Amino acid sequence: MKLVAVGTMAFDSLETPFGKAERIVGGTASYVGLSASYFTQNINLVSVIGGDFPSQFLSELTARGVDLDGVEMRKDEKSFFWAGKYHNDMNTRDTLDTQLNVLETFDPKIPSSYKDADYLMLGNLTPSVQHSVIKQMSKRPKLIVLDTMNFWMDIAMPELKEVLKEVDVLSINDEEARQLSGDYSLMKASKIILDMGPKYLIIKKGEHGALLFSREEVFYAPALPLEEVFDPTGAGDTFAGGFIGYLCAMEEVNFEVMKHAIIFGSAMASFCVEKFGTERLLNLDRKSIQQRVQQFIDLSQVEISL
Ligand code: AMP
Repeated sequence: MKLVAVGTMAFDSLETPFGKAERIVGGTASYVGLSASYFTQNINLVSVIGGDFPSQFLSELTARGVDLDGVEMRKDEKSFFWAGKYHNDMNTRDTLDTQLNVLETFDPKIPSSYKDADYLMLGNLTPSVQHSVIKQMSKRPKLIVLDTMNFWMDIAMPELKEVLKEVDVLSINDEEARQLSGDYSLMKASKIILDMGPKYLIIKKGEHGALLFSREEVFYAPALPLEEVFDPTGAGDTFAGGFIGYLCAMEEVNFEVMKHAIIFGSAMASFCVEKFGTERLLNLDRKSIQQRVQQFIDLSQVEISL
């Protein structure tokens, strides 16, 4: 199954209660690509980088079989830059700086070998760019997943609502669900958002897990209680990469299979937060992922006879 993932490839400067990291590699496509690479082989990235982006990180991706033909490199320009600072509870963060740089004029040209993808992951990016990618596909992918954030809701809500009409799954956090729907109750918010187009909605609640909604059903997946969360950056994208990567390996996509995908995505996210940036995602193996998934199963399994 062919997966195309679109998103930012970036430099991030991060401040958490555990320390600071200056200009380390991040970006939504970086996290999605790395995370999905543990589940599926045919991953194709669409992004834009400046001449300052480290070639070593690109080699890390290609070594994992990730195709980078869709990553446009602009030698004389600067990569997207984001700076954020986390509060003590690690669930909330302030964006200190967003420098769009190469992203400002990004107009992706999807390589022809990508156009028949079965799965499309629209990572957090300008909504009009996300839309343009859908329009360039030669056939409707089996599944389109979209991730976005408050930044785009603030500056491009109409464009975001347009692209939402075209997607199957929307993945956002609780605050973003409230902003998008205008309703504080997540149950009510889910109905309003599902009316905007997506068939499924994932609401991420950081250390409190994630909810999956369809029109008829709701599923709750816990997050693993970790002793130390070092850096939550990229947890959402790592979750999305694990979620769609897992689905790529499945015959059929339905609510039941998505429940499993959410647990695998959550397991990947629980690794991501253990180190700064993408570091922890660079050296995982199947066995540790399976052990972590088992911890998720043990955490919420209960037998009650009524
Ligand atoms: P997450 O923690 O999963 O929500 O995503 C963190 C990543 O999102 C960082 O590596 C940033 O480079 C990237 N990012 C931050 N702001 C934006 C934005 N406005 N558009 C796209 N990517 C962003």
